Amino acid sequence: MEDFIIPLSSEFDGIYFIEGNQRARYPYSHSMLIGDYLIDTGISHKRLKTLKKRFPINNVLFTHWHEDHISGNYLLKDAKFYCHSKDKAPIENVNEMIPLYNVKNTPVEDELNSLIKLLRMQNIKVDTIIADNDIFKIGDQLKLKVLFTPGHTAGHCAYYELNSKIAFLGDIDLTRHPYYGNLDASLIKFEESIAKIKALDIETVVTGHRGIIEGKNKIDEEIDKYMSILQGRDERILAFFSERSRPIELDNLREKNIIYRKYTFKDFEIIAELLMIEKHLEKFLKEGIIAEKKKGYILN
Ligand SMILES: [Zn+2]
Repeated sequence: MEDFIIPLSSEFDGIYFIEGNQRARYPYSHSMLIGDYLIDTGISHKRLKTLKKRFPINNVLFTHWHEDHISGNYLLKDAKFYCHSKDKAPIENVNEMIPLYNVKNTPVEDELNSLIKLLRMQNIKVDTIIADNDIFKIGDQLKLKVLFTPGHTAGHCAYYELNSKIAFLGDIDLTRHPYYGNLDASLIKFEESIAKIKALDIETVVTGHRGIIEGKNKIDEEIDKYMSILQGRDERILAFFSERSRPIELDNLREKNIIYRKYTFKDFEIIAELLMIEKHLEKFLKEGIIAEKKKGYILN
């Protein structure tokens, strides 16, 4: 067996962690294979080709539209493609990613187009739309359930195998960098989705950018850590409000290292950071922590 294909259960056959190239650092991501169902196609071209030779892949389930999760899909064009209706447009037409990242007419637009070329991305046709609680029966033993978990994108889905209690969480990724920096993201929904995952009776998880995490206690611990990162961001944004008497406008929070403590891909991160801060403000408004005043916001 290739060393990037790792069985996930000693009790149930046919469930594999498929490790993404470069340990799934962007622009790669991890996958999971369950019978002839592959979740996400961002492991790398080379790995996808190898995987395809070893296993029949007749179905491809996407967690969401981001390029690092769908890039190699065209290599599996004979398979059936599935995704949530809300993520269908950018999966079928990669140019639709540009406005969703809010980078049209910025230098990032060119960078993203170069990456799309580098990854040799192609448009594909989605065959079937999936929805919350759909179940795929795989062989005699496996039942893979769709968990609609929006927030990271509008149509993000996780997948949960009911018998082995193994779940693939996509980009509820349990890394130190929770992300909701596209126009169709929502922090309110992201937090609800994380709570939904935490409520599961779950034994093993794999995420898009973290390897295998085993044991309910360890998984809960990782989820709590992830939530605390979001809380830290809440607090840093609210600290700006305490420091100022005048209403705060979104633009006052630009390039302040609130979410990215250091800018590595500066042009992109400044745009994404501002979008993410906007999602926090949306949450604060809904919770009544801040109120609108003139063109900005004040603490309530
Ligand atoms: Zn993503």
